[in-house]
Amino acid sequence: MRRLSADVVVIGGGATGAGVVRDVAMRGYSAILVDRADLAQGTTGRYHGLLHSGGRYVVSDPRSATECAEENAIVTRIHADAVERTGGLFVVTPADDLEFSDRFLRGAIDTKVPVEEISLAEAFKREPRLNPGIQRAFAVQDGSVDGWQMVWGAANSAKNYGAQILTYHEVVKIDTADGAVKAVHCVDRKTGEDVAIEAGFVINAAGAWSGRIAAMADCPDVEVVPGRGIMIAMNHRLVNHVVNRCVYPADGDIIVPVHTVCIIGTTDVKADDPDHLSIPRDEVQKMLDDGDLLVPGFREARAVHAWAGARPLVKDARVSATDTRHMSRGMSVLDHAERDGVKGLLTITGGKLTTYRLMAEHVVDQMCEQLGDPRPCRTADEAVPKSESGANYLVTHRLGEREHDRLDDQVLCECELMTKKMFVEALDEQPRGSFDDLRRQLRLGMGPCQGGFCSMRATGVALETGHIDIDRATELLRLFLKNRWIGLWPILHGEQLRQTALDNWMFHSTLNIDHLPESTQEVAL
Ligand SMILES: Cc1cc2nc3c(=O)[nH]c(=O)nc-3n(C[C@H](O)[C@H](O)[C@H](O)COP(=O)(O)OP(=O)(O)OC[C@H]3O[C@@H](n4cnc5c(N)ncnc54)[C@H](O)[C@@H]3O)c2cc1C
Repeated sequence: MRRLSADVVVIGGGATGAGVVRDVAMRGYSAILVDRADLAQGTTGRYHGLLHSGGRYVVSDPRSATECAEENAIVTRIHADAVERTGGLFVVTPADDLEFSDRFLRGAIDTKVPVEEISLAEAFKREPRLNPGIQRAFAVQDGSVDGWQMVWGAANSAKNYGAQILTYHEVVKIDTADGAVKAVHCVDRKTGEDVAIEAGFVINAAGAWSGRIAAMADCPDVEVVPGRGIMIAMNHRLVNHVVNRCVYPADGDIIVPVHTVCIIGTTDVKADDPDHLSIPRDEVQKMLDDGDLLVPGFREARAVHAWAGARPLVKDARVSATDTRHMSRGMSVLDHAERDGVKGLLTITGGKLTTYRLMAEHVVDQMCEQLGDPRPCRTADEAVPKSESGANYLVTHRLGEREHDRLDDQVLCECELMTKKMFVEALDEQPRGSFDDLRRQLRLGMGPCQGGFCSMRATGVALETGHIDIDRATELLRLFLKNRWIGLWPILHGEQLRQTALDNWMFHSTLNIDHLPESTQEVAL
């Protein structure tokens, strides 16, 4: 058994946990973050990509609206490399009630969310594909944010302040004694080794799974309801601004341009288990229809991938237990000393990715108060590594970089312009990483071919450079294709069906991938 100790153990490596570990480390505590998978592989890696301006909540949730507006400015600055300042529009489509747009405008003034009404001519100039029947348009400061990059930025900042980040470490038990938390027990999922971490304080940031973590410390009935939402990526940026319907928050009312694609979302249905989220075909159809209302012709465009995530919604006594659309998006901190008589344990959940930093600040303030050791939060003052220049992400940046190395660096993924050098550097940094771990950082296989060509090339390069042997290569490739398939089958029609048939022929006929020898190595995660 490996034994470690830290002032603070943070459970969960999504946006919230990464924000907490960064904050704790910047305040001078020794800290360890554990996640059962890679960073941002939970809800944070399965969300819509919108850095909220606050506009969405000006009528439904004024407090969240103000928090989003303030945090939008901070996150754009401290995570410059992960945020694209696309700007956003709220538009009243022919199907929407014009009266709501007056409430929207009043709400924006009350909540201090910057909103400017623009002429329809200006709206069509900014977004030529918009529904020509729109009745009114407002400009807001929405952006798009890469959740993986943001979380790794926060984690790398925490590391620079001495924190340890342990991915693939699953918490299986929490020791308490004399009414306080003493240690967190994990299993290293890559090696099978048991790991015991002696902890002065534990912060549970396990999102939709935080009820299960609290129960391990004898704190029962923490009800976090997983609110399942699906999203679909289309193969182009059909819009270059975030386009929202100006309505009370509903399904399928936002299109977000993210990197080279745009994403329509989302639904909101109570799920029973955050580990098993379905992508029903009727919801896929609804998303495409809703997209069509904002951008006519949307449903004829090529859908490349679908996925689902689970909102960690704290059960709200005001609404029915299954009505997740109307449960609060606000953050909740549970003090288990007060609630369950277990000292040294706080749960932080709810909220949004946009407000992750503020959530961390709240919970770490509360921890300091309990420890009688007030130390100020500095996370808003300092940019994370690679964002120090303040230059925000530009979708054309890889194309610009190719201008300099196009003669001596080979492209492995044409859709996302991922080069051999980028792939090999990532492998050097994460020699035990799966191709999905690398995908989240490099966008390997996230374009129209969904890995059809690039996954084969990437496997060859990993073999050729000696990073993996033939057994592991086969298993990693199989796992990667299997995971891509989960997001492909619900949207198979039109051009994407032809592409998938081609990929299938290559992998199953030419490579006969299903019948290559089984590996003795455990890579299925
Ligand atoms: C469909 C959808 C769309 C959304 N769109 C947006 C948006 O556009 N903009 C926005 O601001 N917000 C959005 N959100 C909300 C936002 O994504 C979430 O609020 C946020 O990502 C939650 O982060 P988290 O860190 O709390 O949870 P998670 O990211 O789920 O992190 C929890 C972590 O805990 C880990 N864990 C679980 N069990 C264990 C264990 N036993 N041991 C160790 N680790 C464990 C998991 O692996 C996971 O990584 C959306 C949410 C959904 C579902």
